[in-house]
Amino acid sequence: MFSLIIPVYNEEDLINELAVRSVKAIESFTPNYEVLFINDGSTDSTLRKLIEVRKQFSRIKIIDLSRNFGHQAAFTAGLEMALGNYVAMMDGDLQDPPELLPEMYRKIKEDGFDIVSGKRLGRKGKRFRFTTNVFHAFFKKVSGMEDVENSGNFSIMNRAAVNAMVQMKESIRYLPGLRSFIGFRQGYVEYIREDRLGGEPKMTLGKLMVLGADAIFSFSKFPIKVCLFLGLFGTIIFLIAGIYVLLAKSLGFALIGWSSTVLSIYFLGSIQLIFLGVVGEYVYRIYKESQNRPIYLVKKFYDAETE
Ligand code: UDP
Ligand code: MG
Repeated sequence: MFSLIIPVYNEEDLINELAVRSVKAIESFTPNYEVLFINDGSTDSTLRKLIEVRKQFSRIKIIDLSRNFGHQAAFTAGLEMALGNYVAMMDGDLQDPPELLPEMYRKIKEDGFDIVSGKRLGRKGKRFRFTTNVFHAFFKKVSGMEDVENSGNFSIMNRAAVNAMVQMKESIRYLPGLRSFIGFRQGYVEYIREDRLGGEPKMTLGKLMVLGADAIFSFSKFPIKVCLFLGLFGTIIFLIAGIYVLLAKSLGFALIGWSSTVLSIYFLGSIQLIFLGVVGEYVYRIYKESQNRPIYLVKKFYDAETE
């Protein structure tokens, strides 16, 4: 069986086309499939549209979450509930074209990969393009992970890889990083990322920045390294300055030091505040993980048995 999981959050305008195109693409390579829509606490008519479209396509299932948990959590719900021995993840705004699924499926089945992800060659939309590219290059550098550059969530995995993914229970999640972390044999299909077909982007700049910070904090020591470097740099500067001060004092040309005192206080004070912020981020993350709350909560699962 093949499972396609699609998180949707206020995508009422797209549901129909999304369902039609996905089903058509999948039916071109297998009759045995399920499409799992995860309704991530939409406040518009997304759920109603999904229920409607299920009447037409009986292989569509809906996981209705109890509120908005974010799209990484929604994907996680899909991964945990998918039954297929191949499972694909796809955004619900048609930026990831469903028409690529047959090629991905062929590649994972015939070329012996465990994971095949879509590698973005470019994208049509301009939005955040620069920031996304810079982020990916930066993340690749600091995390040392080779396969994460230019690949997002769009991917297909076999059962072994999915089982590995769902074993990771951390509540702060960056799935492309986790997908790279688990290893296995990974392949690519290249594609041009479309513009979203309609509606507003649901990942606001704020949400994207949180996701980026999660990625960096969970997969690299970069913040700690920066602190260490700054600390070392500060130590050297102050060692030299200290020697100078002592010399000045003993040779008798010490000045009445207002500027130097104030500057040192400012400098040290701000560095300490930054360090505290970084430590705080780590403490927050440890706290979040130790709470061990569920990553998502399901309000209702619509499949053949629930009617
Ligand atoms: N999404 C979601 N929950 C959220 C935000 C987004 O399920 O809190 C879904 C959204 O409906 C879409 C996918 O995640 O199907 C990607 O969102 P978006 O297109 O806004 O992200 P971007 O393409 O800008 O990364
Ligand atoms: Mg999008």
